[in-house]
Amino acid sequence: MTDETFLVVGAGHAGGRAVEALRMSGFEGNIPLIGSERHLPYERPPLSKELLQQKPGVEFQPIHDAAYYDDQNIELHLGVTVTELDTDRRLVQFADGDTVGYNKLLLTTGAQVRPLLVPGAELGGIYYLRTLHDSQAIGARLEPGAKVVVIGGGFIGLEVAASARMRGCEVTVIEMADRLMNRAIGPAMANAFLSIHREHGVDVRLDTGVDRLEGTRKVERVVASGETTYEADLVVVGIGVSPETALAESAGLTVDNGIMVDQFCQTSAPDVFAADDATNHFNPILGRHVRLESWQNAQNQAIAAAGIMCGKTDPYAEVPWFWSDQYDANLQTAGIVDSWQGSVFRGDPDSHSFMAFVLADDEIAAAAAFNRPRDMRFVRRMMGVGRKISADELTDESNALKDLAKG
Ligand SMILES: Cc1cc2nc3c(=O)[nH]c(=O)nc-3n(C[C@H](O)[C@H](O)[C@H](O)COP(=O)(O)OP(=O)(O)OC[C@H]3O[C@@H](n4cnc5c(N)ncnc54)[C@H](O)[C@@H]3O)c2cc1C
Repeated sequence: MTDETFLVVGAGHAGGRAVEALRMSGFEGNIPLIGSERHLPYERPPLSKELLQQKPGVEFQPIHDAAYYDDQNIELHLGVTVTELDTDRRLVQFADGDTVGYNKLLLTTGAQVRPLLVPGAELGGIYYLRTLHDSQAIGARLEPGAKVVVIGGGFIGLEVAASARMRGCEVTVIEMADRLMNRAIGPAMANAFLSIHREHGVDVRLDTGVDRLEGTRKVERVVASGETTYEADLVVVGIGVSPETALAESAGLTVDNGIMVDQFCQTSAPDVFAADDATNHFNPILGRHVRLESWQNAQNQAIAAAGIMCGKTDPYAEVPWFWSDQYDANLQTAGIVDSWQGSVFRGDPDSHSFMAFVLADDEIAAAAAFNRPRDMRFVRRMMGVGRKISADELTDESNALKDLAKG
């Protein structure tokens, strides 16, 4: 036994996995877990998918029930925001003035939604989606026939669009860029998803900015650039997130597009670690810092950080991976590139099942897969070990990816 305290701030997905991993790594001291939300730690992907679709039998499920935290002697402080961090005195302060000391601290403060800054953005009926509460509030408004305008054609916006369509709403998606999900995938994959949404009856408007929102008290219409007007019973804004770094910044930690950490999740302050969407971390596989917003990173960076706090010496080093489900279409991406120019394809990019690759120095720098989850497993394996491969080998479908991954 030890009377040391390993404190975790941020009780989202990463915080929830971190406290579990601290116990699994053999830490027997105190583990307070502090989070602003009132719910037990939970994973967020179902919020825009199953939960929003209100599929029969689908209910909210936290990572663990309350009994688990009792059993594991993990002290939960939910609905509590940490307002100050003093790294010299090694303590944090809550909004009500209470303090908790620590020997080691893990920040899993995640990200917050970017607000839409146009006239009318303060009207009622405008929603963002980050928390269970947000998902429930949107879900309650998705009546058949309701006019839903989604602002932002990224993953979250498109998942909301798909779920709203599946609930019988009339859906418009307004995207400023000339293609969907433009931060993460190339034009061919983006076109494939554009077709899917249009086939499902979503009115997708590309190259379209939002000028203002209008209504009396509640939003009634979205006025796009060029004065085109879209009637709206509700508006869902999905224009990205920014890392939640307020606490880290106020404590003087190095922050630059996220809390800066090395491959050992170590911040610029001694015994202060950070994981999840909040971090800009050094990824040894990519050879550079990267900020990710993904389930994989929330889960695995948190587990790695907990292990490192308990004395493990393995760095956090994974090929970034992300998935999205829209209708019955599954999209997965692995790796990160600035441009998808020069992509090569496995399968027909005009079909509903293909992969796109960007190669650099005879290795796969990035891959995206439309309805090919199994193939993606082998691709990720190749990327993890830096397997040398040619475009011809990859694009020739008579070469099983399973066999290429073995080679
Ligand atoms: C709707 C939705 C769908 C998604 N779908 C996918 C998907 O299909 N695939 C995929 O790979 N990824 C997906 N993601 C991304 C993934 O879920 C997130 O990257 C991940 O959940 C982020 O980790 P987190 O939960 O720890 O961070 P956050 O969600 O940001 O949680 C951080 C927590 O810390 C709390 N907090 C912050 N500051 C303080 C403070 N000072 N004091 C106390 N508490 C604080 C916050 O209230 C919050 O509860 C999705 C995300 C969302 C929102």
